[in-house]
Amino acid sequence: MIPAPFEYARPTTVDEALQAMAAGGEDVKVLAGGQSLIPVMRLRLAAPETVVDLGRVTELRGVREDGDALVIGAMTTHSDVLADPLIRQHAPLIAQATETVADRQVRHRGTFGGALVHADPAGDLPAVALALDAEFVIAGPEGRRTVPARDFFVDYLTTAVDEGELLVEVRVPKLDGQWGMRYEKFNRVAQAWSIVAVAAAVRRENGHITEARVGLTNMGPTPLRAGAVEAALSGAEATPEAIAAAAAHAAEGTEPSSDLNAQADYRQHLATVLTRRAVTAAAGL
Ligand SMILES: Cc1cc2nc3c(=O)[nH]c(=O)nc-3n(C[C@H](O)[C@H](O)[C@H](O)COP(=O)(O)OP(=O)(O)OC[C@H]3O[C@@H](n4cnc5c(N)ncnc54)[C@H](O)[C@@H]3O)c2cc1C
Repeated sequence: MIPAPFEYARPTTVDEALQAMAAGGEDVKVLAGGQSLIPVMRLRLAAPETVVDLGRVTELRGVREDGDALVIGAMTTHSDVLADPLIRQHAPLIAQATETVADRQVRHRGTFGGALVHADPAGDLPAVALALDAEFVIAGPEGRRTVPARDFFVDYLTTAVDEGELLVEVRVPKLDGQWGMRYEKFNRVAQAWSIVAVAAAVRRENGHITEARVGLTNMGPTPLRAGAVEAALSGAEATPEAIAAAAAHAAEGTEPSSDLNAQADYRQHLATVLTRRAVTAAAGL
């Protein structure tokens, strides 16, 4: 189908974008890679009055270091993320998850920020951002604010980015040294969305796991941290038995949906299996 008519603005700076959004009327949509927004507009599930295209806002694109954090611009494409040596070095979990996102064409257009603001429960990057304790820098008419990942994902397809606001960049703490990471995704066919996936980051010292962070994809309307698994792993021996015992808690507190791909109880079973695999690999076993 053809989208309903809309006004179109193509700013070149964040300030111009915010002005265009403020002047755009009742229903303004920001266009990033368009991989989610355009299909929704073509189906007329969204009919914004104005579309503000961020494609020429170059300040939103790229990856840089800032002390002990990586700063990833919202308009950095999935392909740019995959090619970036800083991400491979300091946050390989992001690269591993991005490799599983869709196909080359989608990764060429789709953006890191767009995927996070879209916040699809089956999207791969939200659980990764949550596991890495990322921070989200949001710009609006009143200035900029920073929101931690635990407060960013509010509900199904809903984030802390309010109307009239833009996600500018995401700050990801560098996890170097004894940290290992693994993203384990289960999907029906290659290049498809996650039925369930698990993002694990584990710090190992002297044969023990000193800290573990585990994010769950598609186990509820928002990405979740597997708190009971993290607590069970903290201080545990880095052995297959201890990891399997901790992973058995992965479904605690989750509310996965039932759909054509999987029933909720199957998703909960998958979460325990994928958590065991992800933590085992992240711990280097
Ligand atoms: C066939 C197909 C398969 C896919 N498979 C996967 C998959 O396996 N895993 C996965 O994780 N994703 C998958 N995706 C989604 C992909 O990751 C998209 O890139 C992503 O959902 C949206 O990113 P985008 O840059 O295209 O955003 P857009 O479609 O342009 O925007 C999406 C939403 O976010 C808002 N938005 C975008 N950027 C900003 C910003 N900076 N500030 C405020 N609001 C913003 C828009 O207004 C819109 O509401 C798939 C997509 C397709 C088409």
